[in-house]
Amino acid sequence: MRRRTALVTGASRGIGAAIAVALARQGVGVVGIHYAADAAAAQAVAREVERHGAAPVVLQADFSEGAAAAASLADAWRKEVQRHGLGGTDVLVSNAGINGAQALDELTGDVVGRVLTVNLAVPLMLLHHLSPHLSEGARVIGVSSGYARIAAPTHVAYSAAKAGLEAAFTAVAVELGKRSITVNTVRPGVIDTDINAEWIDEPGAREAVAAESALGRVGQPRDVADIVAFLAGESSRWITGQSLDATGGVRL
Ligand code: NAD
Repeated sequence: MRRRTALVTGASRGIGAAIAVALARQGVGVVGIHYAADAAAAQAVAREVERHGAAPVVLQADFSEGAAAAASLADAWRKEVQRHGLGGTDVLVSNAGINGAQALDELTGDVVGRVLTVNLAVPLMLLHHLSPHLSEGARVIGVSSGYARIAAPTHVAYSAAKAGLEAAFTAVAVELGKRSITVNTVRPGVIDTDINAEWIDEPGAREAVAAESALGRVGQPRDVADIVAFLAGESSRWITGQSLDATGGVRL
């Protein structure tokens, strides 16, 4: 069987790292592990991916640098796919993101610009550059957030970026559907990762998050990664243009 290729952005830790490992576990042959600054962490993920039988490819690009970062990452990834003697990209997971919590009265142009650039503009440009390189029947998956839909007055720009990603991916699903490519997003609730480091260890915080979930616990990266792996696999072929909740049943 032909070896499949997958590029996961922001795969050095947290949800992205769990996705890279889940895809390797699922039998993807070449897994691209993109990171911004934490090279050692990305190398550790590469070793884990290798343990599951896939060839890891570690690639650096800082999305806060804007559209040029998308072009250089796409170019580096295409060359690696060729180097492995493979034809195209079978799975693209757009996961890299930053939090940038700010309420309306705190908004600064700097943070709004950075949050929209890293979480929305660069992912869209990356998809633009890789689109011609996607295989027939490829899978594109974006990591959105529950805050794309749930009112989050503390996260104005972040909510806008994630809702924008969902809307753009829904539009792109129509265009890429002609090539049997599916395009979906997943919408995590609070997951135990570094993005929540500022508050999740405060007394009572985990208990409060767990109490919001029908399943009564805080979500772990693998909870989201397994949903992404499902969307990346053959069984999800009839799902496209959708956003799947990955919140453990958060009660609104
Ligand atoms: P994390 O902070 O552990 O990981 C973020 C990843 O994004 C890292 O690999 C990092 O290298 C990458 N990244 C950060 N800044 C970057 C930049 N400037 N350029 C390129 N890459 C950059 O957080 P996480 O929770 O694993 O987040 C992964 C995705 O899940 C994000 O898009 C986030 O918005 C989304 N999400 C997380 C939660 C949660 O509660 N953890 C909830 C909803 C959505």
